[in-house]
Amino acid sequence: MTLPGSPHVAYRGDTLHVEDCALPDLAARHGTPLYVYSRASMLAAVGAYQRALAGRDHLVCYAMKANSNIAVLQTFAQAGCGFDIVSGGELARALAAGAEPGKIVFSGVGKTRAEMRQALDAGVMCFNVESEAELDVLSDVATQAGRTARISLRVNPDVDAGTHPYISTGLKGNKFGVAHADAVKVYRHAASLPGIEVVGIDCHIGSQITESTPYLDALDRMLDLVEAVESHGVRLHHLDLGGGLGITYTDEQPPSADVLVAALLKRIDERGHGHRKILFEPGRSLVGNAGVLVSEVLYLKPGEEKNFCIVDAAMNDLMRPAMYQAWMNIVACRQSGDQPVTYDVVGPVCESGDWLGRDRPLAVKAGEHIAVLSAGAYSMSMASNYNTRGRAAEVLVSGSQSWLIRDREQPSELFRGEHLVPGG
Ligand SMILES: *Cc1c(COP(=O)(O)O)cnc(C)c1O
Repeated sequence: MTLPGSPHVAYRGDTLHVEDCALPDLAARHGTPLYVYSRASMLAAVGAYQRALAGRDHLVCYAMKANSNIAVLQTFAQAGCGFDIVSGGELARALAAGAEPGKIVFSGVGKTRAEMRQALDAGVMCFNVESEAELDVLSDVATQAGRTARISLRVNPDVDAGTHPYISTGLKGNKFGVAHADAVKVYRHAASLPGIEVVGIDCHIGSQITESTPYLDALDRMLDLVEAVESHGVRLHHLDLGGGLGITYTDEQPPSADVLVAALLKRIDERGHGHRKILFEPGRSLVGNAGVLVSEVLYLKPGEEKNFCIVDAAMNDLMRPAMYQAWMNIVACRQSGDQPVTYDVVGPVCESGDWLGRDRPLAVKAGEHIAVLSAGAYSMSMASNYNTRGRAAEVLVSGSQSWLIRDREQPSELFRGEHLVPGG
């Protein structure tokens, strides 16, 4: 039976598999909660971008905050990807996973001097600068280090919210990027600064976008700026169109990456910008549907108003439902012929907000496993230790092979850096 999302997560007979690995077997071997990722699914997702960009100068920079396990990064590095990072910690992770520094772009509104220095020393490809103040500090840090910082400005295209209300980062009033109206002035300032080399322009208009139109609108606004900036003698070599392409959690029908990229390239060519290097920064669309969170049913708790299915995964493991009221599909790892019962699927954390799904039909018993689908992005990477719960283990699957790519966190690790005070 096929499920919405990735073709690599499917039932074989009555048992849910990721590629050729049965999830109950992985749960028995590694315990739960357990994140499981399909390598084939990730490679298919990045391949769709790369195929559409073939034949021109391009770079797909995986936005690693979506899922930053080093084996996931290794998969993308080996597939030729660069990385979009947002912190010094992410830079260290990317390098540990074998990323080429010359393929890393550094985004984020609050880069510290120490992070700038770290990225300059590593030799990153480009800083995506988000304000004039950041530009001045970067110039200072680069000059002191005797280095040159290659930069693009993240411009805020102010794409019409009325038409596309779910776009949350590309509007006036967002903290991100340089206002469209200020961009020419800031570029001219950048070009005058020591230690700064202008190389490109970028934008990132939001996440879980399910239409092409906002991208095309933002692209047009960006190309207008490119033409204005270059008329002042400042050369922009690359166009970075950001990330944000949505995935199917339930019935969303986002354009596929190849269709979206083809439409954008067509517009770029029509407007005479086909010679430029093209960058994308996809996160969710590369990993979201590649992952599942497997959890054991601890207790079934029938009630007058609600039935609760209490599982061993909680909001600390998977924050999206509690934080964004996100709907994520929840299914039994083994289908039974029993009549489904409607449950709120909740975790052990002491918060009423600790739920993974509400009003879900499930035919499960205590001791069996459920899987939360489309949990490859913004899931493990947002996990916390709330309630002093160790973070889940992670497994990467390729065909019938599977590798443990992160150990389950043990209780003693959770307070290792804490100190009792003397005489207490
Ligand atoms: C988060 C982020 C991305 C990736 O967004 P997705 O919606 O996961 O594709 C890309 N670029 C920047 C600057 C980001 O902050």
